[in-house]
Amino acid sequence: QIKSEIIAVGTELLLGQIANTNAQWLSQQLAAYGINVYNHAVVGDNLNRVQDTFRQAQNRSDIIIVTGGLGPTDDDLTREAFQGLSGQEIIEHPESMEKIKQFFDRNNYSMTPNNRKQARVFKGAKVLLNNAGMAPGMMATHQNKTWIFLPGVPREMKQLSLDYVFPYLQKMIGNKEVIKSIVLKFIGIGESRLEHDLHDLIQAQSNPTIAPLAQNDGVVIRLTAKESSQMLVNQILEETKEKVLEQVGEYFYGVDDQTIEEQIISLLIAQNKQIAAAESLTGGMFMSRLISVEGASEACAGGIVCYDTDVKKEVLGISEKTIESHGTVSEECALEMAVNARKKLNSNIGISFTGVAGPGKSEEHPAGTVFIAISDDTGQDIVRQFNFNGSRNSVRRRTALKGLELLFK
Ligand code: ATP
Ligand code: MG
Repeated sequence: QIKSEIIAVGTELLLGQIANTNAQWLSQQLAAYGINVYNHAVVGDNLNRVQDTFRQAQNRSDIIIVTGGLGPTDDDLTREAFQGLSGQEIIEHPESMEKIKQFFDRNNYSMTPNNRKQARVFKGAKVLLNNAGMAPGMMATHQNKTWIFLPGVPREMKQLSLDYVFPYLQKMIGNKEVIKSIVLKFIGIGESRLEHDLHDLIQAQSNPTIAPLAQNDGVVIRLTAKESSQMLVNQILEETKEKVLEQVGEYFYGVDDQTIEEQIISLLIAQNKQIAAAESLTGGMFMSRLISVEGASEACAGGIVCYDTDVKKEVLGISEKTIESHGTVSEECALEMAVNARKKLNSNIGISFTGVAGPGKSEEHPAGTVFIAISDDTGQDIVRQFNFNGSRNSVRRRTALKGLELLFK
């Protein structure tokens, strides 16, 4: 069993100023390639401590991936630390030096001596030319252990990993398979319910593997398949997707990067419908999500942020009577808001959001009480009540998302 580990170098990580997303990403990718990650380590920019961490890794792992500390400044000590461990000579890499010079010429910066530092590599290491930045990556061997050094900048780290590191490791462990993942996205169903409905399928299935994951907009499942060719991989992913959708297809809204708001805009455009919103507690959040989609102008008329009761009355035309007899947090008010938004903004669909974002109650309703109404020019009006948990802003986010979910159905 080949053991790998990931070491992130950088004091910012220890201070909590940045999160170790490099290790997260690398672990996800390595898992898909069938390489087991046994440890994550984080160490500050201190030569002795980096060296200690490297020594431990050398003793316990076969593949060691290090990110960060390859830059030009004095606190970038990764090379020196590995040299201390391995005794390997550090030399200047002419091709990388040339790249760095060109970068400075192109940008009319003058190069400082410490920039040369970034072109230094271990003699005998395989150099991974960095097209996204300056410091190259390196793959070195020390006493039969594979050491991979990558820049800390996530974009550069990912590029070098995908271009060189993963293909190399896959070959090294004798894995000739093609690995591919797709993400299926669902809304209106909880993670545990989805897992329950897919339980038998998940148990029976080993290629692709099926992994449910909670996400901001509903739940997603990731299918990861390995096969001997691209064609076979696509085929078994497609087959498994169909099996999943047989169980929970009614909640499915998209794959990979597709968003729920994109789906709704497409639906509205296909139906040639315009939507308008009246937003109290969401304060424009709902419309903002729709308008984030390219092409939204074909389907979105606009929205009215009617947070204050006077604005509900004066701008949106909610009747005095509705507010007096039912309050603004009510089915009646929500319905009138949806109808008036639709009519005032000449749309086919009006949607409204009114409720108590919290903290604390309002009009005798506890925080999280929300009414959403949808009014359609075919005469179909619906209104629903929800009781959301969480902070003020999570209630607001859930409300806007629930609006998207209701439209999708
Ligand atoms: P540079 O040439 O930019 O100095 P480097 O290889 O020396 O690169 P660092 O100086 O350690 O790398 O990090 C550069 C930047 O990359 C950091 O400021 C940080 O924003 C980001 N970064 C570093 N390590 C990580 C990590 N483990 N996870 C996420 N981001 C990171
Ligand atoms: Mg640096």
